[in-house]
Amino acid sequence: MTEPATARSCPFPADADRETHSTPVLLARAEQFAAQFDRIAKGRENPLNIVIEDTTGPVQAVINGRPTLMFGTNSYLGLNFHPDCIAAAVAAAQHYGTGSTASRVAAGNHRLHVQLEEEIAAFHRRSDAVVFSTGFMANLGVITALARKEDAIFADAHCHASIFDACRLSGAQVSTFRHNDAADLERLFTESDIASEQTLVIVEGLYSVRGDVGALAELAAVAKRRGAVFVVDEAHGLGVYGRNGRGVGEHLGVEDDIDVVVGTFSKSVGVIGGYAVSNTAALRALRFMARPYLYTASLPLPVVAAARAAIALIASDRHGLRASVWRNARQFHAGVSRLGLPLHSDAGPVGSIRLPGLAAGYAVWQGLLARGIYVNLLVPPATPDGEVVLRFSVSAAHKPQHIDAAISAFREVKDSVGLG
Ligand code: PMP
Repeated sequence: MTEPATARSCPFPADADRETHSTPVLLARAEQFAAQFDRIAKGRENPLNIVIEDTTGPVQAVINGRPTLMFGTNSYLGLNFHPDCIAAAVAAAQHYGTGSTASRVAAGNHRLHVQLEEEIAAFHRRSDAVVFSTGFMANLGVITALARKEDAIFADAHCHASIFDACRLSGAQVSTFRHNDAADLERLFTESDIASEQTLVIVEGLYSVRGDVGALAELAAVAKRRGAVFVVDEAHGLGVYGRNGRGVGEHLGVEDDIDVVVGTFSKSVGVIGGYAVSNTAALRALRFMARPYLYTASLPLPVVAAARAAIALIASDRHGLRASVWRNARQFHAGVSRLGLPLHSDAGPVGSIRLPGLAAGYAVWQGLLARGIYVNLLVPPATPDGEVVLRFSVSAAHKPQHIDAAISAFREVKDSVGLG
């Protein structure tokens, strides 16, 4: 997801009359922004406000009183419901209590955090790992600790909002290059006033709106030749790509060219948290310089315990979950392709379908929901190139009949709104 929705970048026309508004302009603008989706929803479900009434499995929920199949979470492996992870969390809650109640540098640095860091470093075959409380904070921490105002950052134009926020916060000179375009990255180096050795290049392994894979080999080659730091956010690839589940870097055989890998526990790992791994001793500096590490509470130990269990499951893959998610992704992709819907990428755990505008997008999204299928409706600025898309994700926990049900719903909705 590229940019967060903000009132400033609201894609809808402004119609608030400042003269007659009795509330302060800043509040009026925010209220108006929030009201846009209500107007489109016309009293039906608002896509930004959906309430999950019950969660009955890794991909099952109740919404509006209806059993609903979830194709819009990032539980790619279904580990949020794995008995090992649940048992670890329950045991940790009983033993250690529910929360850490302090940051890592105050009283929040428990033996379990250190063990998790050792295990995540070993999993990635790196010398060091630093765990954060979310993936968003991991990006903020890594980028702001490494880059300062005298430096440059070159980011892929499709990077996640957390990366762009981190870039801004660092104070460095930030430029974007065209998505996956190594020649455009090269151009940025050539045109930059800042030494290439003082540059950080950041990209993603698997892009979460379109579901396409980063051109890591080509981009790393440019960054390495220029002496820049090359950072890859593997939030979505972790657990799914690579023979050992280490992400797209492993899948493409380019791990040695990546200086720092950032990851999250909120997707395949099934909990919450983020991390950075590296072979460079510089990573230690994050523990002293990364404000999102220093100034926020550390992960609760039940979360840490579940994350450790999940990493062990991803590493061993003893249930063959990677093969399952890929089998399901292919089934889903083939079904949607047969309907002639415009997919953005090849089969994968996450992807999206282009829709001709917000009204059609809402109609498809709402039609699917009414048939018990939940996907994400994404609009600009959360999407690249101003597109409205339906973003779906597939899990190892889906059964073939779940995917058949989703495809049937897509077929009915497509016919009813005249798509394709
Ligand atoms: N990076 C990317 C590429 C993401 O897609 C996300 C979440 N959608 C994050 C980072 C943030 O992860 P978290 O949910 O752990 O904060």
